[in-house]
Amino acid sequence: MGAPPATTGFGRRRFGARRVLRAFLRSGRGRRYSRIVLRAVIFDVDFTLSRPGPELGPEAYRLLGVAHGLQLDPERYEDARLAAFADLRAHPDLVHDDETWIVFTEDIVRGMGGDADGARACAVDMVRRWEIHANFDLYDDVVPVLAALRGFDLRLGLISNGQRDLEEFAAHHRLDVDVAVGSKSHGRTKPHASIFQHALEALGVSAAEAVMVGDSREDDIDGARALGMRAILLDRARIHPAESDRIITLFQLPVALGLPDGLRVG
Ligand SMILES: [Mg+2]
Repeated sequence: MGAPPATTGFGRRRFGARRVLRAFLRSGRGRRYSRIVLRAVIFDVDFTLSRPGPELGPEAYRLLGVAHGLQLDPERYEDARLAAFADLRAHPDLVHDDETWIVFTEDIVRGMGGDADGARACAVDMVRRWEIHANFDLYDDVVPVLAALRGFDLRLGLISNGQRDLEEFAAHHRLDVDVAVGSKSHGRTKPHASIFQHALEALGVSAAEAVMVGDSREDDIDGARALGMRAILLDRARIHPAESDRIITLFQLPVALGLPDGLRVG
């Protein structure tokens, strides 16, 4: 073992690490060594980068119910939502189907006390609100972490199941990404392999060169791993402590990706 490389100071060493990593990534030499290749990071959207705002919450349900002649109890929202999730059935071939989310939302409406005529129309109106980009808020860690990843010349992408035009969503929230693949335009939903493959091809990277980050074990994590991608569970609610590849905030992502510890965010 030789002596450690001489440096003139901590700051200089950090700068050197970043320069070496960039040169390495640009050279493509790491492609033979999948363990250390990283060229792209792909994010899920809902509850990973953004969360629904009050326009989609319990009180909004109550008000929309009034417009449809329904008395919805906001106190029953959470139980109704969990029950609807338990009943949620994806299309057997993972084909994107608008009806899935209408049925899911109608379940919530009925579970909140709106088990009557008007429940479906109320659900249709609520689902339309999910197509409005302004009804979502970004988590505080999103913009600084995406900017930090850009500092390492990484390609960035989005994959999301849902009704929205994902490219418009990214533009509305000024998300600095290269690719945005929504299930509505793609035609299949996560965890179908094709939606991941589409994003990888658009990013110009292989599965081994990309990491998926998301909050859903089934849709994001299992789907990506089935293709040979590394997948990191973002467990903001801290409900999956046993998951081995897990972070609880995006601020932990750069370290989880093995980027030089000179990167400081948050
Ligand atoms: Mg999600």
